Amino acid sequence: MSVDTVSLSGWGRTAPTTAVRFRPRTHEEAAAAVRGRGPRGVIARGLGRSPGDAAQNAGGSVLDLTGLARIGGVDASGALHCDAGVSLERLLRVLLPLGWLPPVVPGTGRVTVGGAIASDLPGLDHRRSGSFARHVSALELLTADGEVRTVLPGTALFDATAGGLGLTGVILGATLRLRRVPTALMSVSTERAEDLDDLLARFTAGGDRLPYASAWIDLTARGRATGRGILTRGEHATPDMRPAHAGRTLLSPRSGGARGRFRLPGCPPVPGGLFGPAPAALYNEVRYRGAPRARTGELRPVGAFFHAADAYPDANLLYGRGGLVRYRFTVGYGQEETLHRVVRRIAGRRGPAVRAVLQRFGAADPGGLSFAAPGWSLALDLPAALPGLARFLDDVDEEVAAAGGRVCLAKDSRMRPEAAAAMYPGLAGFQELRARLDPTEAFRSDLSRRLGL
Ligand SMILES: Cc1cc2nc3c(=O)[nH]c(=O)nc-3n(C[C@H](O)[C@H](O)[C@H](O)COP(=O)(O)OP(=O)(O)OC[C@H]3O[C@@H](n4cnc5c(N)ncnc54)[C@H](O)[C@@H]3O)c2cc1C
Repeated sequence: MSVDTVSLSGWGRTAPTTAVRFRPRTHEEAAAAVRGRGPRGVIARGLGRSPGDAAQNAGGSVLDLTGLARIGGVDASGALHCDAGVSLERLLRVLLPLGWLPPVVPGTGRVTVGGAIASDLPGLDHRRSGSFARHVSALELLTADGEVRTVLPGTALFDATAGGLGLTGVILGATLRLRRVPTALMSVSTERAEDLDDLLARFTAGGDRLPYASAWIDLTARGRATGRGILTRGEHATPDMRPAHAGRTLLSPRSGGARGRFRLPGCPPVPGGLFGPAPAALYNEVRYRGAPRARTGELRPVGAFFHAADAYPDANLLYGRGGLVRYRFTVGYGQEETLHRVVRRIAGRRGPAVRAVLQRFGAADPGGLSFAAPGWSLALDLPAALPGLARFLDDVDEEVAAAGGRVCLAKDSRMRPEAAAAMYPGLAGFQELRARLDPTEAFRSDLSRRLGL
Protein backbone atom coordinates (compact mmCIF):
# COMPACT_ATOMS: atom_id res chain seq x y z
CA MET A 1 0.00 0.00 0.00
CA SER A 2 1.43 3.39 -0.90
CA VAL A 3 1.41 6.09 1.78
CA ASP A 4 2.26 9.77 1.37
CA THR A 5 1.46 13.16 2.87
CA VAL A 6 -0.39 15.38 0.41
CA SER A 7 -2.40 18.55 0.11
CA LEU A 8 -5.91 17.68 -1.09
CA SER A 9 -8.87 19.73 -2.25
CA GLY A 10 -12.10 19.04 -4.09
CA TRP A 11 -12.80 19.86 -7.75
CA GLY A 12 -13.54 23.48 -6.71
CA ARG A 13 -9.96 23.87 -5.38
CA THR A 14 -11.14 25.86 -2.36
CA ALA A 15 -9.61 25.26 1.11
CA PRO A 16 -6.95 22.58 0.41
CA THR A 17 -5.76 20.72 3.53
CA THR A 18 -2.98 18.25 4.24
CA ALA A 19 -3.54 14.60 5.17
CA VAL A 20 -1.74 11.28 5.14
CA ARG A 21 -3.05 9.43 2.07
CA PHE A 22 -3.22 5.61 2.03
CA ARG A 23 -3.82 3.85 -1.25
CA PRO A 24 -4.84 0.25 -0.43
CA ARG A 25 -4.86 -2.52 -3.04
CA THR A 26 -6.71 -5.08 -0.94
CA HIS A 27 -9.47 -5.13 1.67
CA GLU A 28 -6.91 -6.16 4.30
CA GLU A 29 -4.75 -3.10 3.56
CA ALA A 30 -7.82 -0.86 3.79
CA ALA A 31 -8.78 -2.43 7.14
CA ALA A 32 -5.22 -1.94 8.43
CA ALA A 33 -5.33 1.76 7.51
CA VAL A 34 -8.68 2.21 9.31
CA ARG A 35 -7.47 0.34 12.43
CA GLY A 36 -4.23 2.35 12.47
CA ARG A 37 -5.90 5.74 12.10
CA GLY A 38 -4.69 8.61 14.27
CA PRO A 39 -6.72 10.92 16.51
CA ARG A 40 -7.96 13.00 13.56
CA GLY A 41 -9.68 9.97 12.05
CA VAL A 42 -10.00 8.83 8.45
CA ILE A 43 -12.23 9.43 5.41
CA ALA A 44 -12.59 7.61 2.09
CA ARG A 45 -11.85 9.38 -1.16
CA GLY A 46 -12.66 8.46 -4.75
CA LEU A 47 -11.61 10.64 -7.65
CA GLY A 48 -11.98 13.87 -5.66
CA ARG A 49 -14.68 15.21 -7.99
CA SER A 50 -16.82 16.45 -5.14
CA PRO A 51 -16.49 20.21 -5.56
CA GLY A 52 -16.18 20.94 -1.80
CA ASP A 53 -14.33 19.45 1.17
CA ALA A 54 -16.24 16.15 1.56
CA ALA A 55 -13.22 13.98 0.74
CA GLN A 56 -10.58 15.86 2.77
CA ASN A 57 -9.44 15.35 6.36
CA ALA A 58 -7.05 18.02 7.64
CA GLY A 59 -4.32 16.49 9.81
CA GLY A 60 -5.85 13.01 9.58
CA SER A 61 -5.92 10.08 7.12
CA VAL A 62 -7.52 9.83 3.71
CA LEU A 63 -8.12 6.43 2.14
CA ASP A 64 -7.82 6.72 -1.65
CA LEU A 65 -9.92 3.87 -3.06
CA THR A 66 -8.89 4.18 -6.71
CA GLY A 67 -6.45 1.28 -6.35
CA LEU A 68 -9.40 -1.06 -5.70
CA ALA A 69 -10.86 -1.18 -9.20
CA ARG A 70 -11.85 -4.71 -10.24
CA ILE A 71 -14.97 -5.26 -12.32
CA GLY A 72 -16.76 -8.63 -12.13
CA GLY A 73 -18.95 -10.27 -14.76
CA VAL A 74 -22.55 -9.30 -15.52
CA ASP A 75 -25.15 -12.01 -14.92
CA ALA A 76 -28.27 -12.51 -17.05
CA SER A 77 -30.37 -10.27 -14.80
CA GLY A 78 -27.91 -7.38 -15.19
CA ALA A 79 -26.32 -7.66 -11.76
CA LEU A 80 -22.65 -6.68 -11.60
CA HIS A 81 -20.23 -6.71 -8.68
CA CYS A 82 -17.35 -4.26 -8.71
CA ASP A 83 -14.86 -2.59 -6.41
CA ALA A 84 -15.74 0.85 -5.07
CA GLY A 85 -12.76 2.52 -6.79
CA VAL A 86 -13.97 1.75 -10.33
CA SER A 87 -14.88 4.91 -12.23
CA LEU A 88 -18.24 5.24 -13.98
CA GLU A 89 -16.35 6.25 -17.13
CA ARG A 90 -14.57 2.88 -17.14
CA LEU A 91 -17.77 1.01 -16.39
CA LEU A 92 -19.42 2.74 -19.33
CA ARG A 93 -16.53 1.78 -21.63
CA VAL A 94 -16.66 -1.85 -20.57
CA LEU A 95 -20.43 -2.26 -20.37
CA LEU A 96 -21.78 -0.33 -23.33
CA PRO A 97 -20.49 -2.75 -26.01
CA LEU A 98 -22.32 -5.50 -24.03
CA GLY A 99 -25.59 -3.53 -24.11
CA TRP A 100 -25.54 -2.43 -20.46
CA LEU A 101 -25.32 0.93 -18.77
CA PRO A 102 -24.51 1.91 -15.16
CA PRO A 103 -27.87 2.48 -13.46
CA VAL A 104 -27.49 6.26 -13.01
CA VAL A 105 -25.10 8.35 -15.05
CA PRO A 106 -24.08 11.80 -13.71
CA GLY A 107 -22.63 14.77 -15.62
CA THR A 108 -19.10 13.43 -15.34
CA GLY A 109 -17.80 9.88 -15.75
CA ARG A 110 -14.83 10.67 -13.50
CA VAL A 111 -16.47 9.59 -10.28
CA THR A 112 -16.06 6.27 -8.52
CA VAL A 113 -18.81 3.82 -7.63
CA GLY A 114 -18.02 4.47 -3.93
CA GLY A 115 -18.30 8.24 -4.46
CA ALA A 116 -21.57 7.79 -6.39
CA ILE A 117 -23.10 5.80 -3.50
CA ALA A 118 -21.72 8.04 -0.76
CA SER A 119 -23.16 11.11 -2.57
CA ASP A 120 -26.25 9.19 -3.76
CA LEU A 121 -25.96 10.85 -7.16
CA PRO A 122 -29.18 11.78 -8.92
CA GLY A 123 -29.07 11.41 -12.72
CA LEU A 124 -30.93 13.15 -15.53
CA ASP A 125 -33.85 10.71 -15.23
CA HIS A 126 -34.33 10.98 -11.46
CA ARG A 127 -38.11 11.16 -11.89
CA ARG A 128 -38.04 7.67 -13.33
CA SER A 129 -35.06 6.01 -11.64
CA GLY A 130 -34.24 7.79 -8.39
CA SER A 131 -30.65 8.24 -7.27
CA PHE A 132 -27.67 5.87 -7.57
CA ALA A 133 -28.07 3.90 -4.33
CA ARG A 134 -31.53 2.68 -5.35
CA HIS A 135 -29.77 0.44 -7.86
CA VAL A 136 -27.36 -1.09 -5.36
CA SER A 137 -28.48 -4.53 -4.20
CA ALA A 138 -25.64 -5.00 -1.67
CA LEU A 139 -22.49 -3.28 -0.57
CA GLU A 140 -19.41 -4.18 1.48
CA LEU A 141 -18.73 -1.63 4.17
CA LEU A 142 -15.54 -1.43 6.22
CA THR A 143 -16.61 -0.04 9.59
CA ALA A 144 -14.69 1.66 12.41
CA ASP A 145 -13.86 -1.67 14.13
CA GLY A 146 -11.97 -2.77 11.00
CA GLU A 147 -14.61 -5.40 10.10
CA VAL A 148 -16.24 -5.72 6.68
CA ARG A 149 -20.04 -6.01 6.72
CA THR A 150 -22.39 -6.83 3.88
CA VAL A 151 -25.08 -4.17 3.97
CA LEU A 152 -28.44 -4.67 2.28
CA PRO A 153 -31.07 -2.14 1.12
CA GLY A 154 -33.92 -1.61 3.54
CA THR A 155 -31.63 -1.52 6.58
CA ALA A 156 -30.84 1.59 8.62
CA LEU A 157 -27.13 1.20 7.90
CA PHE A 158 -27.74 1.07 4.14
CA ASP A 159 -29.90 4.21 4.26
CA ALA A 160 -27.26 6.06 6.29
CA THR A 161 -24.48 4.98 3.92
CA ALA A 162 -26.41 6.03 0.78
CA GLY A 163 -25.60 9.75 0.61
CA GLY A 164 -23.71 9.41 3.93
CA LEU A 165 -20.53 11.05 2.57
CA GLY A 166 -18.24 8.30 3.85
CA LEU A 167 -19.19 8.91 7.50
CA THR A 168 -20.52 5.41 8.20
CA GLY A 169 -17.42 3.67 6.83
CA VAL A 170 -15.50 2.82 3.68
CA ILE A 171 -17.45 1.23 0.84
CA LEU A 172 -15.15 -1.44 -0.59
CA GLY A 173 -17.43 -2.92 -3.24
CA ALA A 174 -21.02 -3.01 -4.45
CA THR A 175 -23.44 -5.07 -6.50
CA LEU A 176 -25.21 -2.85 -9.01
CA ARG A 177 -28.34 -3.51 -11.04
CA LEU A 178 -27.45 -2.36 -14.55
CA ARG A 179 -29.75 -0.99 -17.22
CA ARG A 180 -30.21 -2.69 -20.61
CA VAL A 181 -29.82 -0.31 -23.55
CA PRO A 182 -30.65 -1.04 -27.21
CA THR A 183 -27.72 0.90 -28.75
CA ALA A 184 -24.76 3.08 -27.75
CA LEU A 185 -26.60 6.16 -29.02
CA MET A 186 -29.07 8.63 -27.65
CA SER A 187 -31.83 10.33 -29.62
CA VAL A 188 -31.73 13.94 -28.48
CA SER A 189 -34.10 16.86 -28.70
CA THR A 190 -32.98 20.45 -28.06
CA GLU A 191 -35.10 23.57 -27.66
CA ARG A 192 -34.51 27.15 -26.72
CA ALA A 193 -36.65 28.83 -24.04
CA GLU A 194 -36.92 32.60 -23.92
CA ASP A 195 -37.30 33.03 -20.15
CA LEU A 196 -37.66 30.98 -16.97
CA ASP A 197 -41.44 30.49 -17.22
CA ASP A 198 -41.03 29.29 -20.78
CA LEU A 199 -38.23 26.93 -19.68
CA LEU A 200 -40.26 25.39 -16.83
CA ALA A 201 -43.28 24.98 -19.13
CA ARG A 202 -41.18 23.22 -21.77
CA PHE A 203 -39.68 20.92 -19.12
CA THR A 204 -43.10 19.70 -18.08
CA ALA A 205 -44.71 19.61 -21.56
CA GLY A 206 -44.92 16.08 -22.93
CA GLY A 207 -44.54 14.45 -19.49
CA ASP A 208 -41.58 12.14 -19.25
CA ARG A 209 -41.78 10.65 -22.74
CA LEU A 210 -38.10 11.54 -23.10
CA PRO A 211 -36.83 10.33 -19.72
CA TYR A 212 -33.50 12.18 -19.53
CA ALA A 213 -33.77 15.96 -19.25
CA SER A 214 -31.69 18.92 -18.13
CA ALA A 215 -31.41 22.57 -19.10
CA TRP A 216 -28.64 25.09 -19.22
CA ILE A 217 -29.76 28.46 -17.84
CA ASP A 218 -28.24 31.77 -18.85
CA LEU A 219 -27.83 33.31 -15.40
CA THR A 220 -26.37 36.50 -16.86
CA ALA A 221 -29.51 37.35 -18.86
CA ARG A 222 -31.69 40.04 -17.30
CA GLY A 223 -34.98 41.84 -17.85
CA ARG A 224 -37.46 39.88 -19.96
CA ALA A 225 -34.82 37.28 -20.82
CA THR A 226 -34.13 36.36 -17.17
CA GLY A 227 -33.79 32.60 -16.86
CA ARG A 228 -33.70 31.90 -20.59
CA GLY A 229 -32.07 28.61 -21.45
CA ILE A 230 -31.61 25.55 -23.58
CA LEU A 231 -33.50 22.38 -22.72
CA THR A 232 -31.96 19.08 -23.78
CA ARG A 233 -33.88 15.83 -23.53
CA GLY A 234 -33.06 12.34 -24.66
CA GLU A 235 -33.97 8.70 -24.86
CA HIS A 236 -31.97 5.62 -25.80
CA ALA A 237 -31.94 5.28 -29.59
CA THR A 238 -33.27 2.04 -31.03
CA PRO A 239 -31.46 0.34 -33.95
CA ASP A 240 -34.09 1.50 -36.45
CA MET A 241 -33.66 5.19 -35.61
CA ARG A 242 -32.10 7.22 -38.36
CA PRO A 243 -30.65 10.65 -37.67
CA ALA A 244 -33.26 13.27 -38.48
CA HIS A 245 -30.42 15.79 -38.86
CA ALA A 246 -27.63 13.78 -40.43
CA GLY A 247 -25.36 16.81 -40.93
CA ARG A 248 -25.42 17.59 -37.23
CA THR A 249 -25.41 14.13 -35.78
CA LEU A 250 -22.45 13.69 -33.45
CA LEU A 251 -21.05 10.22 -34.03
CA SER A 252 -17.57 9.85 -32.64
CA PRO A 253 -15.41 6.77 -33.28
CA ARG A 254 -15.34 6.18 -29.49
CA SER A 255 -19.00 5.64 -28.92
CA GLY A 256 -18.66 5.92 -25.16
CA GLY A 257 -16.46 8.99 -25.01
CA ALA A 258 -17.26 12.67 -24.67
CA ARG A 259 -16.83 14.61 -27.88
CA GLY A 260 -13.67 16.66 -28.16
CA ARG A 261 -11.35 17.56 -25.30
CA PHE A 262 -10.48 21.04 -24.17
CA ARG A 263 -7.31 20.67 -22.14
CA LEU A 264 -5.07 23.17 -20.47
CA PRO A 265 -2.04 20.89 -20.13
CA GLY A 266 0.08 21.84 -17.14
CA CYS A 267 -1.57 25.26 -17.15
CA PRO A 268 -1.67 27.06 -13.80
CA PRO A 269 -5.03 28.53 -12.77
CA VAL A 270 -5.78 31.80 -14.60
CA PRO A 271 -4.96 34.29 -11.78
CA GLY A 272 -8.11 36.43 -11.76
CA GLY A 273 -10.23 33.85 -13.53
CA LEU A 274 -11.55 34.15 -17.07
CA PHE A 275 -15.10 34.73 -16.04
CA GLY A 276 -15.74 38.35 -15.18
CA PRO A 277 -19.31 39.56 -15.73
CA ALA A 278 -18.72 40.85 -19.27
CA PRO A 279 -16.93 37.77 -20.71
CA ALA A 280 -19.48 35.50 -18.99
CA ALA A 281 -22.40 37.43 -20.50
CA LEU A 282 -20.76 37.31 -23.94
CA TYR A 283 -20.06 33.58 -23.65
CA ASN A 284 -23.65 32.93 -22.60
CA GLU A 285 -25.06 35.07 -25.41
CA VAL A 286 -23.06 33.12 -28.00
CA ARG A 287 -24.08 29.82 -26.44
CA TYR A 288 -27.77 30.75 -26.36
CA ARG A 289 -27.87 32.13 -29.91
CA GLY A 290 -25.87 29.15 -31.18
CA ALA A 291 -28.44 26.61 -29.98
CA PRO A 292 -31.22 25.50 -32.31
CA ARG A 293 -34.67 26.94 -31.60
CA ALA A 294 -36.03 23.41 -31.79
CA ARG A 295 -34.45 20.21 -33.03
CA THR A 296 -35.41 16.57 -32.56
CA GLY A 297 -33.96 13.20 -33.47
CA GLU A 298 -30.27 14.11 -33.26
CA LEU A 299 -28.20 11.00 -32.51
CA ARG A 300 -25.37 11.36 -30.02
CA PRO A 301 -23.03 8.81 -28.43
CA VAL A 302 -24.11 7.94 -24.89
CA GLY A 303 -20.87 9.33 -23.40
CA ALA A 304 -21.17 12.67 -25.22
CA PHE A 305 -24.77 13.04 -24.07
CA PHE A 306 -24.21 12.32 -20.38
CA HIS A 307 -20.63 13.44 -19.86
CA ALA A 308 -20.60 16.70 -21.78
CA ALA A 309 -18.65 18.29 -18.89
CA ASP A 310 -15.77 15.84 -19.45
CA ALA A 311 -15.00 17.54 -22.75
CA TYR A 312 -13.55 20.31 -20.55
CA PRO A 313 -11.56 18.37 -17.93
CA ASP A 314 -9.69 21.44 -16.67
CA ALA A 315 -12.64 23.83 -16.58
CA ASN A 316 -12.10 24.33 -12.83
CA LEU A 317 -8.86 26.20 -13.59
CA LEU A 318 -10.77 28.97 -15.35
CA TYR A 319 -12.23 30.40 -12.14
CA GLY A 320 -9.03 31.98 -10.85
CA ARG A 321 -6.67 31.11 -8.01
CA GLY A 322 -9.46 31.06 -5.44
CA GLY A 323 -11.23 28.23 -7.25
CA LEU A 324 -14.97 27.81 -7.70
CA VAL A 325 -17.98 27.33 -5.49
CA ARG A 326 -20.63 24.96 -6.79
CA TYR A 327 -24.02 25.87 -5.36
CA ARG A 328 -26.71 23.26 -5.86
CA PHE A 329 -30.12 23.46 -4.28
CA THR A 330 -33.57 22.01 -4.76
CA VAL A 331 -37.02 23.44 -4.02
CA GLY A 332 -40.29 21.56 -4.26
CA TYR A 333 -42.93 21.77 -6.97
CA GLY A 334 -45.16 24.72 -6.08
CA GLN A 335 -42.09 26.74 -5.00
CA GLU A 336 -41.33 28.05 -8.48
CA GLU A 337 -41.48 31.62 -7.17
CA THR A 338 -38.42 30.88 -5.00
CA LEU A 339 -36.59 29.56 -8.05
CA HIS A 340 -37.54 32.75 -9.92
CA ARG A 341 -36.30 34.93 -7.06
CA VAL A 342 -32.96 33.13 -6.79
CA VAL A 343 -32.40 33.32 -10.54
CA ARG A 344 -33.28 37.04 -10.51
CA ARG A 345 -30.93 37.64 -7.58
CA ILE A 346 -27.98 35.95 -9.29
CA ALA A 347 -28.66 37.72 -12.58
CA GLY A 348 -29.17 41.05 -10.81
CA ARG A 349 -25.90 40.65 -8.95
CA ARG A 350 -24.11 40.09 -12.26
CA GLY A 351 -22.65 36.81 -10.98
CA PRO A 352 -20.46 35.49 -13.81
CA ALA A 353 -22.10 32.05 -14.00
CA VAL A 354 -21.46 30.15 -17.20
CA ARG A 355 -22.26 26.68 -15.86
CA ALA A 356 -25.82 26.48 -14.54
CA VAL A 357 -27.93 23.34 -14.81
CA LEU A 358 -31.63 22.94 -14.06
CA GLN A 359 -33.15 19.50 -13.48
CA ARG A 360 -36.39 17.97 -12.24
CA PHE A 361 -36.46 15.42 -9.44
CA GLY A 362 -38.99 12.75 -8.59
CA ALA A 363 -39.74 10.96 -5.31
CA ALA A 364 -37.22 11.41 -2.48
CA ASP A 365 -34.62 8.68 -1.98
CA PRO A 366 -34.45 6.62 1.23
CA GLY A 367 -30.93 7.86 2.17
CA GLY A 368 -31.03 9.94 5.38
CA LEU A 369 -28.80 12.65 3.86
CA SER A 370 -29.65 12.04 0.18
CA PHE A 371 -30.12 15.29 -1.66
CA ALA A 372 -32.86 14.71 -4.23
CA ALA A 373 -36.48 15.49 -3.32
CA PRO A 374 -39.47 16.13 -5.59
CA GLY A 375 -38.98 19.49 -7.25
CA TRP A 376 -36.55 21.61 -9.22
CA SER A 377 -32.78 21.51 -8.79
CA LEU A 378 -30.44 24.27 -9.90
CA ALA A 379 -26.62 23.85 -9.85
CA LEU A 380 -24.28 26.71 -10.68
CA ASP A 381 -20.58 27.49 -10.46
CA LEU A 382 -19.26 30.86 -9.34
CA PRO A 383 -15.68 32.07 -8.74
CA ALA A 384 -14.98 31.66 -5.02
CA ALA A 385 -13.16 35.02 -4.99
CA LEU A 386 -16.30 36.92 -6.03
CA PRO A 387 -16.63 39.80 -3.52
CA GLY A 388 -19.43 39.22 -1.01
CA LEU A 389 -20.15 35.69 -2.23
CA ALA A 390 -20.26 34.07 1.23
CA ARG A 391 -22.89 36.53 2.52
CA PHE A 392 -24.85 36.33 -0.70
CA LEU A 393 -25.07 32.53 -0.61
CA ASP A 394 -25.94 32.55 3.11
CA ASP A 395 -28.95 34.70 2.18
CA VAL A 396 -29.90 32.33 -0.63
CA ASP A 397 -29.59 29.40 1.83
CA GLU A 398 -32.16 31.10 4.04
CA GLU A 399 -34.51 31.58 1.13
CA VAL A 400 -34.12 27.95 0.06
CA ALA A 401 -34.63 26.65 3.62
CA ALA A 402 -37.71 28.88 4.11
CA ALA A 403 -39.21 27.29 0.99
CA GLY A 404 -38.60 23.79 2.44
CA GLY A 405 -35.69 23.19 0.06
CA ARG A 406 -32.11 22.08 0.66
CA VAL A 407 -28.57 22.62 -0.53
CA CYS A 408 -26.55 19.61 -1.71
CA LEU A 409 -24.02 18.52 0.95
CA ALA A 410 -21.84 16.56 -1.48
CA LYS A 411 -21.09 19.76 -3.40
CA ASP A 412 -20.84 22.10 -0.44
CA SER A 413 -17.76 24.08 0.59
CA ARG A 414 -19.22 27.00 2.53
CA MET A 415 -22.57 26.36 4.24
CA ARG A 416 -23.14 27.12 7.93
CA PRO A 417 -24.08 24.23 10.28
CA GLU A 418 -27.44 25.80 11.27
CA ALA A 419 -28.46 25.94 7.62
CA ALA A 420 -27.62 22.26 7.06
CA ALA A 421 -29.56 21.22 10.19
CA ALA A 422 -32.61 23.20 9.05
CA MET A 423 -32.58 21.67 5.57
CA TYR A 424 -32.00 18.01 6.48
CA PRO A 425 -34.62 16.67 8.90
CA GLY A 426 -32.95 13.24 8.62
CA LEU A 427 -29.73 14.59 10.16
CA ALA A 428 -30.64 13.80 13.79
CA GLY A 429 -31.37 10.14 12.95
CA PHE A 430 -28.14 9.95 10.95
CA GLN A 431 -26.16 11.31 13.91
CA GLU A 432 -27.78 8.83 16.32
CA LEU A 433 -26.88 5.89 14.10
CA ARG A 434 -23.33 7.18 13.72
CA ALA A 435 -22.94 7.60 17.48
CA ARG A 436 -23.91 3.93 17.99
CA LEU A 437 -21.87 2.58 15.08
CA ASP A 438 -18.78 4.72 15.50
CA PRO A 439 -18.67 6.24 19.01
CA THR A 440 -15.07 7.46 18.64
CA GLU A 441 -15.84 9.16 15.32
CA ALA A 442 -13.26 7.25 13.37
CA PHE A 443 -14.75 8.60 10.12
CA ARG A 444 -14.44 12.33 9.79
CA SER A 445 -13.91 14.87 7.05
CA ASP A 446 -13.39 18.61 6.77
CA LEU A 447 -17.04 18.80 5.70
CA SER A 448 -18.32 16.78 8.67
CA ARG A 449 -16.37 18.97 11.11
CA ARG A 450 -17.48 22.20 9.42
CA LEU A 451 -21.17 21.24 9.36
CA GLY A 452 -21.25 19.22 12.56
CA LEU A 453 -22.56 16.13 10.79
C1 LIG B 1 -17.73 18.21 -13.93
C2 LIG B 1 -18.57 17.59 -12.84
C3 LIG B 1 -19.87 17.19 -13.10
C4 LIG B 1 -20.66 16.64 -12.08
N1 LIG B 1 -21.93 16.24 -12.37
C5 LIG B 1 -22.71 15.76 -11.39
C6 LIG B 1 -24.07 15.37 -11.64
O1 LIG B 1 -24.53 15.42 -12.79
N2 LIG B 1 -24.82 14.93 -10.62
C7 LIG B 1 -24.32 14.84 -9.36
O2 LIG B 1 -25.06 14.48 -8.44
N3 LIG B 1 -23.03 15.16 -9.09
C8 LIG B 1 -22.23 15.62 -10.07
N4 LIG B 1 -20.93 15.96 -9.78
C9 LIG B 1 -20.40 15.79 -8.43
C10 LIG B 1 -19.63 14.49 -8.24
O3 LIG B 1 -19.89 13.63 -9.24
C11 LIG B 1 -19.95 13.83 -6.89
O4 LIG B 1 -19.70 14.69 -5.85
C12 LIG B 1 -19.23 12.46 -6.71
O5 LIG B 1 -19.55 11.91 -5.49
C13 LIG B 1 -17.75 12.49 -6.74
O6 LIG B 1 -17.29 11.14 -6.78
P1 LIG B 1 -15.78 10.81 -6.43
O7 LIG B 1 -15.53 9.38 -6.68
O8 LIG B 1 -14.87 11.78 -7.08
O9 LIG B 1 -15.83 11.04 -4.86
P2 LIG B 1 -14.99 12.06 -3.95
O10 LIG B 1 -15.19 13.43 -4.45
O11 LIG B 1 -13.61 11.59 -3.82
O12 LIG B 1 -15.78 11.88 -2.57
C14 LIG B 1 -17.11 12.34 -2.45
C15 LIG B 1 -17.72 11.83 -1.15
O13 LIG B 1 -17.87 10.41 -1.24
C16 LIG B 1 -17.16 9.78 -0.18
N5 LIG B 1 -16.57 8.55 -0.73
C17 LIG B 1 -15.86 8.41 -1.88
N6 LIG B 1 -15.52 7.11 -2.05
C18 LIG B 1 -16.03 6.43 -0.99
C19 LIG B 1 -16.00 5.07 -0.58
N7 LIG B 1 -15.40 4.13 -1.31
N8 LIG B 1 -16.61 4.75 0.58
C20 LIG B 1 -17.25 5.68 1.33
N9 LIG B 1 -17.30 6.96 0.99
C21 LIG B 1 -16.71 7.34 -0.15
C22 LIG B 1 -16.10 10.76 0.27
O14 LIG B 1 -15.74 10.55 1.62
C23 LIG B 1 -16.84 12.08 0.08
O15 LIG B 1 -17.66 12.31 1.18
C24 LIG B 1 -20.12 16.49 -10.79
C25 LIG B 1 -18.81 16.88 -10.53
C26 LIG B 1 -18.02 17.43 -11.55
C27 LIG B 1 -16.61 17.83 -11.23
